[in-house]
Amino acid sequence: VYAHPHHQGQQKIKVLCRVRPFLAHETPDGSVQVEEDQKVLRATNLRDPEKDIRYTFDACYGDEVSQETVYNNDVKPLIENVFNGLDTTIFCYGVTGAGKTHTIQGNENEPGIIPRAFKQIFQLAHNNVSPTGDGDGGCEIKVSYYEIYKEAVFDLFKPDLTTAHTATDPSATASASATTSTTTSTVVQPSGLPIREDVNRKIFIAGLSEKVVTTYDQFISLYTTACKYRRTGSTKLNSHSSRSHAILTVQVTTTTTQGKVHLIDLAGSEDNRKTDNKGRHRMAESSAINRSLFVLGQVVEALNSGAHRIPYRDSKMTRILQDSLGGRCVGMMIVNVAPGKAFLQDTHNTLNFATKSR
Ligand code: ADP
Ligand code: MG
Repeated sequence: VYAHPHHQGQQKIKVLCRVRPFLAHETPDGSVQVEEDQKVLRATNLRDPEKDIRYTFDACYGDEVSQETVYNNDVKPLIENVFNGLDTTIFCYGVTGAGKTHTIQGNENEPGIIPRAFKQIFQLAHNNVSPTGDGDGGCEIKVSYYEIYKEAVFDLFKPDLTTAHTATDPSATASASATTSTTTSTVVQPSGLPIREDVNRKIFIAGLSEKVVTTYDQFISLYTTACKYRRTGSTKLNSHSSRSHAILTVQVTTTTTQGKVHLIDLAGSEDNRKTDNKGRHRMAESSAINRSLFVLGQVVEALNSGAHRIPYRDSKMTRILQDSLGGRCVGMMIVNVAPGKAFLQDTHNTLNFATKSR
């Protein structure tokens, strides 16, 4: 019998909660409250407004907690580990307007996880002096940036080519010889990039661009341009960006190790509101809209409960992230919550999903 590599019941994916401040046009009310220990969120029970429901997390942050604090407390140690060859995946989960993009990307005044991670990565790369003493410690930093929209993968570094990408994928011939007939699992989409398995059974996205970056500024300029492609799409089709997952992958190769970080701005969770376990059929409908988000919840739950079967193969995103979620990898899901009554039902849905995942 094959011994399962995961420790039974050991939590693989940390779950954090972050409540954003009220915005200028919103009226503060006490619908959600972070308890003093920074572990519990209390939210008004919609059925009985006199009572609150308490949700417990690994950490729970109120609106006074800065981008810097979130980074230093929870992200920094994970990025350090990447230089020891550990893979890390960080997700922001929540409804549209809850603060996912603010947390993972931020803005010029309040930079989020992505720019801070790259500052740290280049710092560590610089300090990582190789035995031969060459350049930046012989470190190579390589990035990819892509969206998953309706279960299809689109390269944000090559937006025009991706949309033109069809079943006549030129890389199909090249990788066909590298895969045996039994392990081949090519899924060719009418548009979007196909997901493949190599001879070592590693999953990869065929044709996805990977850019080597050597400085922070070079990365920021590349990333900023790619983000614009995302936004252009969203003005044409308003719901596009809230329904797509944006995945930034960084590969760090030192002279001795190889580690990967995925930083993910998930699609708005509002499409997945009926996510209770009973509703498999109902989920079939909603999963046409966002299967990856639904399956992610199941994967996180399965990993954290030490389950033997992890349903990685049930969606594009979990399939792609498979190698970075199981095994010797660490993950973190940041659950973003918007305060106030207007979001209260969404908040309960989000928190039920997140605490189950925990
Ligand atoms: P999402 O990406 O989940 O749809 P956004 O990140 O766009 O949500 O956040 C919605 C709004 O709230 C934006 O105007 C954003 O600047 C603001 N916001 C979110 N989180 C914070 C925060 N922690 N501090 C200040 N403003 C925030
Ligand atoms: Mg957003």
